[in-house]
Amino acid sequence: MEEIVRVENLRKWFPVRMGFWETLLTRRQLFVRAVDGISFEIKKAEIFGLAGESGSGKTTTGRLVLKLIDPTSGRIFFEGRDLAPLSEKEMKPVRKRMQIVFQDPYESLNPRMTIADIMAEPLRIQKIGSEEEIEKRVHQALENVQLVPPEEFLFRFPHELSGGQRQRVATGRALVLDPSFIVADEPVSMLDVSIRAEVLNLMVELVRKFGVSFLYITHDLALARHICDRIAIMYLGKIMEKGTAEQVILEPLHPYTQALISAVPVPDPESARVEVIIKGEIPSPINPPPGCRFHTRCPVVVGEICRTKEPQLVDVGNGHMVACHLYPGK
Ligand code: SF4
Repeated sequence: MEEIVRVENLRKWFPVRMGFWETLLTRRQLFVRAVDGISFEIKKAEIFGLAGESGSGKTTTGRLVLKLIDPTSGRIFFEGRDLAPLSEKEMKPVRKRMQIVFQDPYESLNPRMTIADIMAEPLRIQKIGSEEEIEKRVHQALENVQLVPPEEFLFRFPHELSGGQRQRVATGRALVLDPSFIVADEPVSMLDVSIRAEVLNLMVELVRKFGVSFLYITHDLALARHICDRIAIMYLGKIMEKGTAEQVILEPLHPYTQALISAVPVPDPESARVEVIIKGEIPSPINPPPGCRFHTRCPVVVGEICRTKEPQLVDVGNGHMVACHLYPGK
């Protein structure tokens, strides 16, 4: 299948701001290693999930892929084009093809603009169509996100809508430019639990209908399994496991993935599933543990090798990739 996005050995290290005495005593610049050498590809019309605890580097990865921030090293290809050498001017037509839906619909919509202006803004910025054509596209976009009849919503302000309606507006706005790729960063986590599935299902229906590729960033593995074609699990800036949603969620191999999945509540009280407890907090990305980054919390450390040698992401069969010394790969 055709690739939309390819990420190769991507790194983003943020310099830590240090005071004079700290710099003098440390004698070296410290970095937050938010993303530390990850590779993946997203195919056309595919929903690719990036999951993990907060602090794992998922959100930074989403922003890097859209070139909202520059990587420290590594390469990002979008529709076959290397984004690194492109200037802001050269990025403008590319940005039309890539959009983002933010986590917080309360903050991502300008409270002083009407819904009509919010939806029309990307078209006006990109100078697409006459005012009459823009009006038609905005109507269509509102219908697509089931805000009907559109006339009822056009002249309202964001604070006059519910959380679910606001996230529908954000989705409609992301789709109004006919993008080929959307990053959705925890798009339903701020919404009431009762409407999460409804809003997410609508997003998925639209990306499927328009053949858009979707990078879905989440910490909710139950939802990820429900909508993703493939999933990568991130921990401290690295990918620990990657595969189809079935491989990763139903047959997790990495101890970190197993622990995350065991913590997802199951509706069956008779379920025999055993919860795997991971100890402590995620370590600081300024000074990640040597060897396997998960060894300080792993319940099944296999020996000294876990503390000294970093496991590589290897294929254990059928494209199921795992970074753990328990799995030598094929
Ligand atoms: Fe645990 Fe070792 Fe595997 Fe890391 S490499 S997940 S410490 S068993």
